[in-house]
Amino acid sequence: MNDKRPPMKSSERLDEMIRAFEPAYPFISDAYDDKKPLACSECFTDIGLRLEARNVTAMTGACPKCESKKGVLITRKSAMVLAYRYFSLGTMHEPDYGRAPLLVFNEHTKTTQNIKDANITDLEKFEEVLGMGFFEYGPPLWMLGEIEPLKALRKKRQRPAIISEILDRYPSIILPKDQMFFRVRVNPSGDPSLYAQYDSPPKDINVEKGRWDSKQLSIMYCSPDIQTCLHECRAHVSDQVFLASVTGRSNLRLLDLTHHLEESGDWFRSLDLSIQYLFQAGRHSYEISRAIAKSAKDAGFDGLFVPSHFSSLRTGHHYFQAIRGMPIRAFPALREQQKAKVVPNLLLFGHPIEESKVKILSVNRVHMERAEYTLRFGPVIDEGLFFF
Ligand SMILES: [Zn+2]
Repeated sequence: MNDKRPPMKSSERLDEMIRAFEPAYPFISDAYDDKKPLACSECFTDIGLRLEARNVTAMTGACPKCESKKGVLITRKSAMVLAYRYFSLGTMHEPDYGRAPLLVFNEHTKTTQNIKDANITDLEKFEEVLGMGFFEYGPPLWMLGEIEPLKALRKKRQRPAIISEILDRYPSIILPKDQMFFRVRVNPSGDPSLYAQYDSPPKDINVEKGRWDSKQLSIMYCSPDIQTCLHECRAHVSDQVFLASVTGRSNLRLLDLTHHLEESGDWFRSLDLSIQYLFQAGRHSYEISRAIAKSAKDAGFDGLFVPSHFSSLRTGHHYFQAIRGMPIRAFPALREQQKAKVVPNLLLFGHPIEESKVKILSVNRVHMERAEYTLRFGPVIDEGLFFF
C-alpha cells in the first residue's frame, strides 16, 4: 500500500464516514442526483405515498413509465429520499425507550421474503423501477434503550447512583436575571390578571402531575419559546389561554440537561443517550424524571434546563439516530445540527413567584389565529410480522 496520508483522528474518521455513507437522509449524496426521471407519483397506488412524493420533489413533466403529466417526477435521488421518509421514518417502532425503523433499504439488496409477505402497497415499484431492495432493520440494541445507565435508572435501587453521576457530569448554568422566558396558563379558574395565577399550582391542590413535578416537588413549567409553551399545555382553539412574560429577580442557577455530553466508544454505557431517550419516552418514564428533579433541587439548583419532549415536533428534525450502527450524536460534524434540534424548557423548583425568585413583566391573553401541520406519511403495516 502506498497510502502516505497521515492517520486520521477518530473525529475525522467519523466525518469521512458521513461523506462516504449516504442512506441516512438528509445525507443522500448528490451523486444520485442525475436529474433523470424514472417514474412519477401517479405511478403509485397509495395516496399517502403520492402526497409524500410531493414533499420530496417538485419536478414535473411527462412520466417515462406511465406517461401521466399530473404527478411529480422521481429521480434516483428523490426515490431514495422518498423511500427513507416513507418506508424507514414511516415505520418507526417505538419501544419504551429509544426508537428504530422496521424497514430499511439499499440498492444492492433484493427485498426479503418476509417483507414481500407483508404486502406493503407500491413497495415492488421501488424495487422494479427504482432499483432498491428492502429488508428488516436489525438495530444496534442501544437504539432500543438497552443502555446500562438507562437500565439502572429504571431500577429504583440503582437509580440514585446514576442520578448522582448526572449531577456530576452535566453542567450548571446561570440564567441571567434579564433573560425573558414565558409561562402559559390555560383556562385558569381564578382572575387571570393576578400574577399569583402563574406560579406553580398550590401544594394542596390535586392537579395532575407532569413529567417533572411530584407531590414532593412543585414545578413552574416555562420555556423561552412561546409555541413550545402552548404545545406543552395542549392548548386548544376553544381554550382561554394566557401568557406571562417572566424574568428572574436574580440570576438563576440551573442544571443544564440540554448539554451534549461528549462520549466515545461504548454506546451501551452512554449517559448522554440515556438522557436523550428519557426525554423522548412517555408517561412510564416520569418517575425517573421526577427523581432527577428532586435530586437537583436537593443539590441546591433553582431549576432545570431540559429539552422539550416536543423538540422534534417544533423543529421538524426527524431522522433516525444511527449511521452505520453509531449514534448520530457521536459525529462532530453533526453536532450543530443536533443542537438545533433542541427546544428547551425551563423548569423552576418550588413556587418562584411566591418566593420572589422571578418577576412577571406582563400578562397577555393569547388567541390562536392559525395553526399549520407539516406532515409526513408512512404505510400501515403489521408490526407483528417484523422481528422486534
Ligand atoms: Zn408515472
